Amino acid sequence: MSYNYEKKDIYSNYSQEELDNTNSYSKSYMNFLDKARTERLAVEEAIEILENNGFISLEERNVLEPGDRVYFINKEKSLYVAVIGSKDLVSGVNIVGAHIDSPRLDLKPMPLIEKSGTALFKTQYYGGIKKYQWMSIPLALYGVMYNKEGEKIKVAVGEEDDDPVFTIADLLPHLANDQMKLKANDFIDPEKMSVIVGSLKSKEGESKEAEKVKQNILNILHEKYGVEEIDFARSELSFVPAFKTKFIGFDRGLIGGYGQDDRVCAYATIRAIIDAADEMENVEKTMIAMIVDKEEIGSFGTTSMSSRAFDMFVNKLIEKTGNMGVDKLEVYFNSKVLSADVTAGISPEYEEVSDIQNGSTLGCGISLEKYTGSGGKYNASDANASYMSDVMGIFDRNNISYQVGTLGKIGKGGGGTIAYILADKGCEVVDCGTPVLAMHSPFEVTSKFDVYMTYLAYKTFYKG
Ligand code: MN
Ligand code: MN
Repeated sequence: MSYNYEKKDIYSNYSQEELDNTNSYSKSYMNFLDKARTERLAVEEAIEILENNGFISLEERNVLEPGDRVYFINKEKSLYVAVIGSKDLVSGVNIVGAHIDSPRLDLKPMPLIEKSGTALFKTQYYGGIKKYQWMSIPLALYGVMYNKEGEKIKVAVGEEDDDPVFTIADLLPHLANDQMKLKANDFIDPEKMSVIVGSLKSKEGESKEAEKVKQNILNILHEKYGVEEIDFARSELSFVPAFKTKFIGFDRGLIGGYGQDDRVCAYATIRAIIDAADEMENVEKTMIAMIVDKEEIGSFGTTSMSSRAFDMFVNKLIEKTGNMGVDKLEVYFNSKVLSADVTAGISPEYEEVSDIQNGSTLGCGISLEKYTGSGGKYNASDANASYMSDVMGIFDRNNISYQVGTLGKIGKGGGGTIAYILADKGCEVVDCGTPVLAMHSPFEVTSKFDVYMTYLAYKTFYKG
């Protein structure tokens, strides 16, 4: 009998059926990732999947019965989903929460300039990025604009095969002597991360010679979307990588793609609540899934996990299930949460930043992280040992492959998730998500086995 903890890969003992399940789940996930390029699009995709599986808008129901499936959209950018259980809400709810915003380049409010015969959009990066990774790659533009009449216009350029793309033209090495002497933090000036959007002069109009390329872009935008320059101030437009999600390696074991932090957990969360509801004869505890915005900038704002919109959603559930007068704090106090967010996988050429025994290896399962934060557990959400025991028990009983992880060596950095916000409400919560290489880069890497295991883990948690 051996009493040591041994990390095992998932796949070596997999049957053909388990392999097939992994591959088919991975393909539908990759398809989701290609469509859900922004948080708005992630919400749209999730709603389509939910509606195809019997979920309806919460507003359509005044009274909620056990088994009912509902969703609530918060300002187009975050989504709360529930399957009503037969037990009272005050006995607690099983919650899985992920985020759907990813690092990217947002447009400045007045973005369009012309320099040296090119029209450029000035950008401001969103989330923690290594800026050089975003230079000289193809970029697609997504988002919404509003015109003077207050009509919403959707923008998506770079998605179709015959669409143009955009790019930031990095400085050539031949002339980069001064730049290359700078520290990595400084050598890309974020004010220079302007994206090329045009190069041809307008033949019409009275604009100055030095503004004819800009004029031409405004003409094209007016013709295509009916907008004027001032309308950029009432828009949310973002550049994201223009390449599609792919398998990586001769053996196709890994998945490469943009936005896996945290849409890999978001997709798993949505699929898990649907399939858990389908597979259970009687849903006892109410299940909640949520996919929220603004995690990458600290969970501030109306569509973030910190927004009281979630409290409002829970209030509506209390009201509509006939539990008027129940304090939502009591519901939270008895609830269990998986904070569904990715973590750092051990990077093969940078093993030195990970504590290997406390790190997550790609292909060895979903990572369970007792705490996040940095340094002396600053800003950490630290799960209670009894709750770790609960979650590990559920996983052990259901053959969920998990590994015990931390984000990296102490002092090398750190990070947080939405866990602390749920902890603040009084819920039991632990971080639990997919290990990722090259996190926050334009092409993040996961193992397809961990991707599938993430879904199985969340589904198992819901079933309890
Ligand atoms: Mn994340
Ligand atoms: Mn992140």
